[in-house]
Amino acid sequence: MCGILGFISWEPVAPRLVAAADRLQSRGEHSTGVATFDGQFFWDHAGLGSASTVFQNYDLTQLRGSIGIAHTRYATTGGGTPERLLRNRQPVGSDRPGLRTCANGDLVNLQSARAGLMKKGYTFQTEVDSKVIQDLLIERMLGQNIYEAKEIDDYVGRLFKAVAGIHSELVGAYSVLTITERGLLAFKDPNGIRPCSIAFREKPNDMFGAKEVAFASESSVFNYFGDYHDIRELEPGEMIFIEKETLKVHKRRFGASKGAFCFFEFVYFARPDSKFKGRVVESARRDLGKVLAEEFASEKKNIDVVLGVPGTGVSAGVAMAQAWHLPFEYGIIKVGSKRSFQESSQEKREKAIDEKFLFIKEFIDGKRVAVVDDSNVRGTTARKLARRLFELGAKEVHLYYFCPPVIGPCFYGIDTPDESKLVAVGRSPEQIREWIGATSVKYISIEGLIRGLGLPKAELCLACVTRNYPTSVKEAQDRVALRNAEQMSCAEWPK
Ligand code: SF4
Repeated sequence: MCGILGFISWEPVAPRLVAAADRLQSRGEHSTGVATFDGQFFWDHAGLGSASTVFQNYDLTQLRGSIGIAHTRYATTGGGTPERLLRNRQPVGSDRPGLRTCANGDLVNLQSARAGLMKKGYTFQTEVDSKVIQDLLIERMLGQNIYEAKEIDDYVGRLFKAVAGIHSELVGAYSVLTITERGLLAFKDPNGIRPCSIAFREKPNDMFGAKEVAFASESSVFNYFGDYHDIRELEPGEMIFIEKETLKVHKRRFGASKGAFCFFEFVYFARPDSKFKGRVVESARRDLGKVLAEEFASEKKNIDVVLGVPGTGVSAGVAMAQAWHLPFEYGIIKVGSKRSFQESSQEKREKAIDEKFLFIKEFIDGKRVAVVDDSNVRGTTARKLARRLFELGAKEVHLYYFCPPVIGPCFYGIDTPDESKLVAVGRSPEQIREWIGATSVKYISIEGLIRGLGLPKAELCLACVTRNYPTSVKEAQDRVALRNAEQMSCAEWPK
């Protein structure tokens, strides 16, 4: 999971790009980068950490031009050392042809696609998917003789054919933004797994009605600025190109798939004010809390007070408490903005949990508490929470999740490729409860999840809770198996 942003305007875009990157930091802050284009030169700046770190004391007038893209990275490939994180920052670039690209999502066939490019003479200074996507795009653009196109309509036609061509070579999830020498290109994979919204902003007092066009992983960005309109999610397989000179918008769709939008965006990743497929995230979380209350109505008599794990669990917890006519208390308070899943190791994740919550003993001591949280992936937070709540005097700790048990790895951009790390794999419900140390552990059903989201099941990716993947995942599964085998054989080596 990462954040991507793209702006094409009548004015310099760097200030908005950096402010928007700050807004999207919840999607990743291992590195932040911006690339702009002034019609002649690309201007790049990127570094480790959040936008506020990378652009602190940086003169934004150095990022020249009225086209730009930005990326906030959550590392799922290439390791977590500072050197690797720096090497794998985005956007990535090419000077012939002149492109800058950033992407959100993971390619299942990253390694074979990269190997195919290496056979054609490409080399790689970075391990990220966006470089492979960009190089395949270059291959296809050159294959279309795109630089022979004089008229813009001809150019765009060839460009869209190039994008359609790479869809036949790539497997996985990718929402992509690319600056070309003639404008800004956006496209989504044919299943539309990862999010990307488009929005427009009027040029004040312009008699020709020029409009800035902006793209963002989450519409929360547009709410923040307040002056965008016609905000919508890109369709699966949709490609959009905006001309540099005129800001004219060209659109085309590859395929007619209903798509497989990641349901986890609603449950966990996205900011509460973001909207996907017409559904505001916060209201979806509340409705999931109501469904939890319905599905476990018979358990209400065992509860004195409902708590929510900030921030997603609070919305659902309040809704569940209201439906049960029980008190909701802010007994768990989050300090700081860190999201523990973004930590690169289990040890760091556990430390982040210790540092990120405060507990109000008065609301817990002597009570039978129901604690609502979004999901129980590795069991790390659940175990720590249960232990801490008992230490603070809870008589009973009942954990409620508005995501069904996570039983399948995600190969599409979430760092759970290895099912051996998933707490619900290979354990019975009673074994999960025992391992976590809670009085009970309850999950929403898959049907309840769909009902709470209020979206057609056929338009969602539910693979991590059903194991029905919208694409082939064989190459990624083989990669994980090989890595595990290598780790095992290394562990067996004599010290
Ligand atoms: Fe989202 Fe799960 Fe699908 Fe991954 S497998 S894209 S987390 S729904």
